[in-house]
Amino acid sequence: MSEGFEIVFLGTGTSIGVPVIGCDCPVCTSRDPKNQRTRCSLWVRTPDGHSLIVDTGPDLRVQCLREGITHLDAALFTHEHSDHLMGFDDLRRFTVGHDASLPIHGPPSCLDRLRVAFAYAFNGENRYVGYLKPEPHAVEGPFRIGDTRIVPLPVKHGKVPTIGYLFEKAATGRKALAYIPDAKTVPEPTLEALRGVDILILDALHDTPHPTHLCLEESLAIAARAGARETWFTHFSCRMDYRAVEPTLPENVGLAWDGLKRRAFPATNRDGIDPANPGESER
Ligand SMILES: [Zn+2]
Ligand SMILES: [Zn+2]
Ligand SMILES: [Zn+2]
Repeated sequence: MSEGFEIVFLGTGTSIGVPVIGCDCPVCTSRDPKNQRTRCSLWVRTPDGHSLIVDTGPDLRVQCLREGITHLDAALFTHEHSDHLMGFDDLRRFTVGHDASLPIHGPPSCLDRLRVAFAYAFNGENRYVGYLKPEPHAVEGPFRIGDTRIVPLPVKHGKVPTIGYLFEKAATGRKALAYIPDAKTVPEPTLEALRGVDILILDALHDTPHPTHLCLEESLAIAARAGARETWFTHFSCRMDYRAVEPTLPENVGLAWDGLKRRAFPATNRDGIDPANPGESER
């Protein structure tokens, strides 16, 4: 048991990943590991030891192998786009017993999409060792997993109902982490919910405006308004060269990369101490 929420960025790439098939741009041909991005996913370990994954893209298997993830207590989904769903079948490795179900949480439209794409997993006829046994839970408001309260954060992302997730300590209401990998706009109520969060993770596709994703300038404006202790951008296209963009960002904002590990509420900060102003012991 540890006090903080641990996170690992499993993937930080846009829907087609980076490098992109058939692209010979400087980023796609770069050897810099920070320019090589699998599809977006986040792993979270809560202070009471729950192992959670947010989204299961097509790269799920290699991501779990790379990070040594061997146990999951639940999978959360932000929306129904294929780059966030299509590793779903690989969750079978986390329900290996006859009756071992895996709770999955997501917007109703996303669960409907999963039921179509992976009908065999939902029809109740496959209670075998080695088959995935999802236990669907429609996200229509805040819910709890152990000592963590998880709040859906509605955002606008093209035509598809999409949410991010806010992770709070249920006992204190302290906001550890907000994850919004896909968004074009962040509505005011969601911006309000972000206030005071320790770590914010936000879509920032690339440097020019896009019809369904935040661009760098828009993401920086949201980061400034949210005022998190640290903000990390994700879901990058191959127009984002890590070495070129990272030095241009404000001090508490960074570009995430595959394998980046962070901790909300660092161990030096106990509950009740403002992480942005940790007091004498940290100076
Ligand atoms: Zn996406
Ligand atoms: Zn490229
Ligand atoms: Zn999307």
